[in-house]
Amino acid sequence: LPAVRDFTGRDPREVLHEVYGYDAFRGDQADIVQHVVDGGDAVVLMPTGGGKSVTYQVPALVRPGTGLVVSPLIALMHDQVEALIANGVRAGYLNSTQAPAERQAVEQAYLAGELDLLYVAPERLNGAQTLGLLSRGRLSVIAIDEAHCVSQWGHDFRPDYLALGDLAERFPGVPRMALTATATPETAQEIVERLRLRDARGFVASFDRPNIQYRIDAKVDPRRQLVQFIRSQPEGSAGIVYALSRKTVEQTAAYLSSQGLNALPYHAGLDSSVRATHQSRFLREDGVVMVATIAFGMGIDKPDVRFVAHIDLPKSVEGYYQETGRAGRDGDPSVVWMAYGLGDVVQQRRMIDQSPGDRSYKMRLGQHLDAMLALCETVGCRRQNLLDYFGQRSEPCGNCDTCLTPPDTWDGLVAAQKLLSTIVRLQRERGQAFGAGHLIDILRGAKTERISQQGHDRLSTYGLGADLSDQDWRSVIRQLLARGIVVAQGDYGTLALSEASAGVLRGETPVPLRRDALGRTGGGGGGGS
Ligand code: ADP
Ligand code: ZN
Repeated sequence: LPAVRDFTGRDPREVLHEVYGYDAFRGDQADIVQHVVDGGDAVVLMPTGGGKSVTYQVPALVRPGTGLVVSPLIALMHDQVEALIANGVRAGYLNSTQAPAERQAVEQAYLAGELDLLYVAPERLNGAQTLGLLSRGRLSVIAIDEAHCVSQWGHDFRPDYLALGDLAERFPGVPRMALTATATPETAQEIVERLRLRDARGFVASFDRPNIQYRIDAKVDPRRQLVQFIRSQPEGSAGIVYALSRKTVEQTAAYLSSQGLNALPYHAGLDSSVRATHQSRFLREDGVVMVATIAFGMGIDKPDVRFVAHIDLPKSVEGYYQETGRAGRDGDPSVVWMAYGLGDVVQQRRMIDQSPGDRSYKMRLGQHLDAMLALCETVGCRRQNLLDYFGQRSEPCGNCDTCLTPPDTWDGLVAAQKLLSTIVRLQRERGQAFGAGHLIDILRGAKTERISQQGHDRLSTYGLGADLSDQDWRSVIRQLLARGIVVAQGDYGTLALSEASAGVLRGETPVPLRRDALGRTGGGGGGGS
């Protein structure tokens, strides 16, 4: 281990060089560091990989006392602290996974003024014990990482964060920083208010990741599409495939392996030794495809992830941005791809309906989903839509699927009216409601047992939509759902009218629809069967 050194009062740039081996600060780093070294509060919005750690670690080293870092990622604390110690920084952490003797040693070091950085889980700061301890030592700076967790409207709310506002009164004179990689303008405002950072200076980095190409395709045969997408990437590319359920993760990993790809599963239900092995193979070997739930990726520092694929729809734009942001941290060209379909919309609406929580909680989840769907269905630039969500204006990027291949649109008014009238007739005349599959059978004039049993071949709309294929209809319904022109209800995702339906039935609301371009992602045509 390098000898322990004291950096108090040193020049921040020299510290950067000596501790981390970097030649210069990047972007806003130098300004942020100077502002905090001078005793100012700061709110830092910087995308993942932007280099937030340095902005609180350097002031912690330069100012006298210990830098307190509040982080919810307990699993990462150990690694972060080890890395600091390996660089000659006196660091420690306090969390619930620790043995009492180890905790006492860290507490003693803090009180003796022998720590530069102390990582603490937010729940620890909710109790008098840790706060008492901190008051008896000397803090140099307080950094609240993942500060968006304080937002009750965000996708990652943690109640323990609400108490962190009290740190302002408890430690007056200690500069405080809030840092996050995901904040809409509303969330940023909430951070400022709840953490009492009204006098803080804001530092907002661009959220654009220009080396990432964004692509979203209609889901038809997701496994085959996924293999085709991976094969279209340069040989030996490392990538992450995200799925929602453990079962899908395992099945997909097995399928990719059967297709000759070097794929491994990763989810919280796997044995911890298996997870550790898979993670280290992903980090060390070339061309490993990690198929994972969103549990995977936080704190994984692999700069050359060349692609990220989503085979299930993320629950929010924040989540999508965070997960796709794990691609191309080295700045080299990378591609993120998602397959998204009608089933995703129905499933997520159902999950929201069934989730515990009050009306406003469900409304909030619904708004997150709506923003995600708007990104999926946009006929404009994906990047522009994404950046706009984070309050940043931009021009069309030229490096996303809609910029590279502008989608065709068509007038879907008549198709939408046929669907809506079928739903209305079934409801009014028979008190019945059905899911997309059966409605499409009616519209296309299918001769199924269910249709003859129910006498649905006598409906006036039976066979009226035979001009569109089954796939076309799924695309229509998916887009109508995304825009709230129909809604999916109950366990079976039966379709019903919404307030927005009336305008369409009267022919007053235009319904331009995206024509799904299937298989655009494929490198060489064909693909496995
Ligand atoms: P964040 O916390 O914002 O996701 P990190 O602090 O983990 O980002 O930094 C991301 C990567 O950038 C790390 O690999 C880090 O070593 C590197 N990095 C940060 N600042 C600099 C710098 N000034 N010069 C070179 N590399 C840097
Ligand atoms: Zn674009």
